[in-house]
Amino acid sequence: MEHRPIAVIGGGLGGLALARVLHVHGIDARVFDLEPSASARTQGGMLDIHEETGQAALREARLYEGFRAKVHPGGQALRVLDRYAHVVREEPDDGDGGRPEIDRGDLRDLLLSSLPEGAVRWNAKAVSCRALGDGRHEVVLADGTAFTTGLLIGADGAWSRVRPLLSARTPDYTGVSFVELDLHDADARHPDSARLIGGGMFFALGEEKGFLAHRETDGSLHVYVALRTPEAWLGTVDFTDAGAAKAALLRHFDGWDPALRRLVADADGPLVPRRIHALPVQHRWPRTPGVTLLGDAAHLMSPFAGEGANLALADGADLGRCLAGHPGDTEAALTAYEQILFPRSEETARQSAEGLETIFAPDAPQPLADMFARFDAAPR
Ligand SMILES: Cc1cc2nc3c(=O)[nH]c(=O)nc-3n(C[C@H](O)[C@H](O)[C@H](O)COP(=O)(O)OP(=O)(O)OC[C@H]3O[C@@H](n4cnc5c(N)ncnc54)[C@H](O)[C@@H]3O)c2cc1C
Repeated sequence: MEHRPIAVIGGGLGGLALARVLHVHGIDARVFDLEPSASARTQGGMLDIHEETGQAALREARLYEGFRAKVHPGGQALRVLDRYAHVVREEPDDGDGGRPEIDRGDLRDLLLSSLPEGAVRWNAKAVSCRALGDGRHEVVLADGTAFTTGLLIGADGAWSRVRPLLSARTPDYTGVSFVELDLHDADARHPDSARLIGGGMFFALGEEKGFLAHRETDGSLHVYVALRTPEAWLGTVDFTDAGAAKAALLRHFDGWDPALRRLVADADGPLVPRRIHALPVQHRWPRTPGVTLLGDAAHLMSPFAGEGANLALADGADLGRCLAGHPGDTEAALTAYEQILFPRSEETARQSAEGLETIFAPDAPQPLADMFARFDAAPR
């Protein structure tokens, strides 16, 4: 049976950041991902990359300059509105670069192209993992092949197949569901909506629901319609029928300003439902030889602190640095890594949970506008 000294399950931002930092230090790792190829799925969405987490990781990976070249200019602008489309807070992109925005696909391509040929094995879905003793593990893939590894890293996201080796916890529904939609070629085809949303992040909130949106680099508008709703609600809507799905969504926004309702009515293409899950804020596990987790596999949280991708990058970079710093002593490296991981993810998961309450507050959007005002006033 094939043996890999280091096997990373999952080639998302976290797994790729780890592989890259290991490569920088001359350490080989193989990444296994279930996708058929690098380009199998469009990796849409804009990500704010924060200084102390995502940006620090990209420096560690020696990819900071490449990242800056792909930053979306103007993407740091912000608009916060109420349900009558009154603007309660507006910030231009002041160009200070504190939280630059990048397209998720561009960031992933940057990481992928920095790895040696063959570092990622596509079409490799892990279906089970078991401990063999002495810190070694066996992983079975969906095609029936298997391999053993001396160090197994679960970077396989929310529904990790590696996590059960360390923890019995699974993500819980947060009480919030999103429906994602796009308005293409917005300046030409949806000029009013383009002006409404502006160049960066956009929130229109009230009555424990709302619209979270941003402008993408291709000139489209990406909108998350966010609802506090029972877990089963999305299952009652037929998302294969866009007209019916729009009507079902719009019923939740009776009395909202027509400009906001138009974001749903005018959507191009399919509407995509997504339930928001999270692991417990204090999720951690006892040190277990030869295996650890990073990113969403370790600490899935709701997206309301905007840190999930940033933490995945930071975890990957920190784990890579710890392994490079403890040659021949994997357990010391994993201990050092988890000492960084656990307090950081706990603090951010708490902020995400608070962010959820801020966004879905009965008096929203005022608490969110106040939060951005506090950020603005804080010394840099
Ligand atoms: C709607 C929404 C908006 C968000 N917005 C932001 C934001 O603005 N800023 C931010 O920082 N974060 C944001 N996040 C969070 C962010 O997307 C995640 O935290 C981040 O992608 C986690 O990276 P990861 O590498 O840990 O996992 P993932 O990105 O989930 O990658 C996991 C990888 O593992 C692979 N995989 C899964 N299972 C297996 C298996 N069994 N075998 C092999 N491969 C497998 C997958 O194909 C995938 O490539 C958002 C999340 C959501 C849901």
